Amino acid sequence: MDYKSYFADRLRDLREEGRYRVFCDLERRTGKFPKAINHRDGETHEVTIWCSNDYMGMGMHPEVVGAIADAVSQCGAGAGGTRNISGTTHHHVMLEEVLADWHQKESALVFTSGYVANLTTLMTLGQQIPDLVIFSDALNHNSMIEGVRHSRAPKKIFRHNDPADLDRLLSEYPKATPKLVAFESVYSMDGDIAPIADICDVAEKHGALTFLDEVHAVGMYGERGSGVAERDGVADRIDIVQATMGKAIGCIGGYIAGDKDLVDFVRSFGAGFIFTTSLPPGIAAGACASIKHLSEHNELRIRHQERAATLKRRLREMNLPVMDSVSHIVPVLVGDAGLCKQASDLLLTRHHIYVQPINYPTVPRGTERLRITPTPLHDDELMDHLVAALLDVWSTLGINQQAA
Ligand SMILES: *Cc1c(COP(=O)(O)O)cnc(C)c1O
Repeated sequence: MDYKSYFADRLRDLREEGRYRVFCDLERRTGKFPKAINHRDGETHEVTIWCSNDYMGMGMHPEVVGAIADAVSQCGAGAGGTRNISGTTHHHVMLEEVLADWHQKESALVFTSGYVANLTTLMTLGQQIPDLVIFSDALNHNSMIEGVRHSRAPKKIFRHNDPADLDRLLSEYPKATPKLVAFESVYSMDGDIAPIADICDVAEKHGALTFLDEVHAVGMYGERGSGVAERDGVADRIDIVQATMGKAIGCIGGYIAGDKDLVDFVRSFGAGFIFTTSLPPGIAAGACASIKHLSEHNELRIRHQERAATLKRRLREMNLPVMDSVSHIVPVLVGDAGLCKQASDLLLTRHHIYVQPINYPTVPRGTERLRITPTPLHDDELMDHLVAALLDVWSTLGINQQAA
């Protein structure tokens, strides 16, 4: 085989489709967020980031940065081992206590990322619970899909956010068959939110475990910020909550929380937990500081929701095609991969605004979009600039304003 031309040809196809991924080379600066320096064509430009998953700016927060700096100077860089072999530091132990308390669960378990938390937990449960059938929402994140796939447990996909369809699929199995329902609270590409209580009702009726990915909700929903399950008063009905410390918490790492024995089971059988070096202790300390701050400052969440609602309203007033979203995520439909990339390029080069294009396979073809994520730190002036820039780009490229 001519490997060289195979790789080159496949990459050329991606480019021709307009969905070759080009990374924006950024230099984040503490105290400046959401502004950053963009390195481009040998030059530097100051840009405003409008697509960060550092949803609350906590990656730059002095309490978080300070906690990490202190822990690094005291404990050094890396953990120095897997959790089992010398890599469990006191910062890890404290972080798992903080996470369990935040979610009002008996235990929590930290992984190197949210991706690994989903993959490992679903794979372990699917492999280790005899005859388990997994019921997965049609729009679940790739990390859950891969976890289910690698578990080789039978999988049934229910229509997105549709408890009736879930009920229909669960009814195909006797009540005694072990079952697990895997879904998300906030779906990050469309910004819609699952009917958690209704899904729990259906799961309970059929004796199924519930697994909820709150990656795009922790820090941002609920009085203490532990997610939509807290906001909706149904956290106690979720058997396993999973989330990341890489988004609103502003650090890195993932976790699950749940009953003691269930968490201990994943700790004891999960290959993706066992056979890898644990997170740096400094990161564990930073995540603890971030969760403490977020849980004590509900006003940040109020401001965050206000910013998102204001942006949606302003874009609609200008006839820009904002997609329906009931969360902090503001998706604007373009509907074509090439145009979406061009829109993003023009925003960056002409207006110094950075919004990454979202193309297939992250979203279905024909629904390519700009996914905008206002934070509590995006003020009115930045918003004026964004709205004017989008209008300019839409008219320059002739993108349909009524598309959504
Ligand atoms: C980002 C994401 C993950 C993975 O979390 P990381 O910590 O970034 O690996 C899991 N689930 C969903 C829904 C996500 O969007």
